[in-house]
Amino acid sequence: MRKKLVAGNWKMHGSLRQNARLLDALVAGAGGMRCDIAVFVPCPYLAQAQRVLSGTPVAWGGQSVSEHDAGAFTGEVSAAMLGDFGCRYVLVGHSERRTLYGEGDDAIARKFAAARRVGLVPVLCVGETLAERRDGQTEAVVSRQLQAVVDHVGSAGLVGAVVAYEPVWAIGTGVTATPGEAQAVHAAIRARVALADAALAADLRIVYGGSVKPQNAAELFAQADIDGGLIGGAALVAGDFLAICQAASKLGTD
Ligand code: PEP
Repeated sequence: MRKKLVAGNWKMHGSLRQNARLLDALVAGAGGMRCDIAVFVPCPYLAQAQRVLSGTPVAWGGQSVSEHDAGAFTGEVSAAMLGDFGCRYVLVGHSERRTLYGEGDDAIARKFAAARRVGLVPVLCVGETLAERRDGQTEAVVSRQLQAVVDHVGSAGLVGAVVAYEPVWAIGTGVTATPGEAQAVHAAIRARVALADAALAADLRIVYGGSVKPQNAAELFAQADIDGGLIGGAALVAGDFLAICQAASKLGTD
């Protein structure tokens, strides 16, 4: 049985003062939840997250990572650096990185591998644009994005990793995939991984992201292949994020 994961992506939001309030509220509310919880904070706040969250049920991670281990790469942050600040997870291939910063499938696969080299859990984001969905390309796009990583690290490289299905048209738009739409893509991702390794596919956590709110979380998370959520906007409001965690916790396993 896969344990649900609820992870908040703060994107480029926050300040020391705002974060302190939010993190304290998360720690206060996270006790006893029967799901894994994590927050992806901007890099400058990793030390704060480490200080406040160490020894609590809330894990933390970075929002992106360099494909390189070290060197003359101004502005980049290596996987080992994230590890130095206690990160367990790192987002790889978020659609904003793909579209705004031109990260392609191959670069994302190399980032995934860099995260693995130091023992971070990569959360690989995949998802189609609205045009691609209308064109009937959803499964093809998601499969291509996943396959680029498998080509680079092998299917064994997915063991213990997380896949986040995030339809681009649902991110930050208030439009959510219906539970049925999301479940269909999650099932397709799992089936694709099963072609290479059925046991790996059965254990792989596939979370959904795209306008998850307290109002729709329970129904999404109840789908057979939806193992939690990657939460953007609602992760900035402690009460909303904790309500989403609660929805996962109710369906969770210890
Ligand atoms: C995200 O940032 O990955 C995301 C899913 O955002 P939102 O929940 O705001 O759609």
